[in-house]
Amino acid sequence: MLPSFRYHPDPIATGSIKPSSAVCICCGQARGSIYTASVYCLDEIREQLCPWCIADGSAAERFDAMFCDDHSLTKAGLAAGIITEVTRRTPGYISWQSEDWLSCCDDACEFHGDVSHDELRSLSGPALASFLASTGWTATQLNEFAPNYHPGGSPAIYKFVCRHCKLPQYGYDCD
Ligand SMILES: [Zn+2]
Ligand SMILES: [Zn+2]
Repeated sequence: MLPSFRYHPDPIATGSIKPSSAVCICCGQARGSIYTASVYCLDEIREQLCPWCIADGSAAERFDAMFCDDHSLTKAGLAAGIITEVTRRTPGYISWQSEDWLSCCDDACEFHGDVSHDELRSLSGPALASFLASTGWTATQLNEFAPNYHPGGSPAIYKFVCRHCKLPQYGYDCD
């Protein structure tokens, strides 16, 4: 069982953590899974940290590392404890540009990975309004884009969900 991450509920599904026999450079153990996304620190660390050392903060402390950019969280005025949990004790995600972790209801949102093709094509109601607000697109632009969308491609569309009002939010990123 992986540790649980409040702001990244299924990091296996999003691809941020994968099964691996690699040894973690923080705890020195091969624990069966390894973190694959960004590590911001002085050392070059790629696929060398286990989820447990991320969850308990030991990897962040030892390497003075962050796992996602804190810019959007700081700009949203979130409490320092929330920003620290997201940037230093939560797996980041694979993105083209620097991460833009979304927030809602005075909290960081859960990250749910690339939105599925089906979900993007069937957006309606508050989810559609949220998508159009965050991308600045018109519904026509979305309808033209949706058939050509591929999860993991460029542009990428990431899904976040508010932990409180449950509204989905979408981040847009391209190479
Ligand atoms: Zn470890
Ligand atoms: Zn909310």
